[in-house]
Amino acid sequence: MANKIKIGISACLLGEKVRYDGGHRLDRFIVKTLGKHFSWFPVCPEVEAGLSIPREPMQLVGYRSCPRLVVITSGIDLTGVLNGWAGKKVKKLDKEKLCGFILKSRSPSCAINDAELFTVSGKKKGKTAGLFSAMVMKYSPLLPVISEEELADPILRENFIERVLAYKRAGYWRKGKKIISRIKK
Ligand code: SF4
Repeated sequence: MANKIKIGISACLLGEKVRYDGGHRLDRFIVKTLGKHFSWFPVCPEVEAGLSIPREPMQLVGYRSCPRLVVITSGIDLTGVLNGWAGKKVKKLDKEKLCGFILKSRSPSCAINDAELFTVSGKKKGKTAGLFSAMVMKYSPLLPVISEEELADPILRENFIERVLAYKRAGYWRKGKKIISRIKK
């Protein structure tokens, strides 16, 4: 369909085998039902940033305002790798005219707000956004975002679709930055 609405999405939700264990998290409702109306712009931050498949699992460590992305077993800090790539990627997303983003819950890269955050000694400290999703939300604060788990809730799903349609109508991918800068003045 020519006039499908373009939505960014964590690639593993489309069935792409990009997860740390070489698997995927195919979401059939997203692909089969929402796919009738949306076209997809898949992104896997960890793979696009240069990490391998498979790869060692990682977790977020430190402060909620500036968490570090750390390999659990080795302690290697990949924050700079992921953030360096993400900073460039979010600027390129403008050209894609995305009207929303569906992001994988609980991922240290993709979660909107429910990635587990740990202390340096390994204790659970709370929840936070993944590094890539935090960058998307900071760079495009008006862009509608939702996780696949929230999409399973009919009320949150309807709300997301309404926000996507409003965003498309308003052409916010063009105007968003100007509007935000005016609001901040
Ligand atoms: Fe890639 Fe994000 Fe899926 Fe992890 S959650 S595999 S980083 S798309």
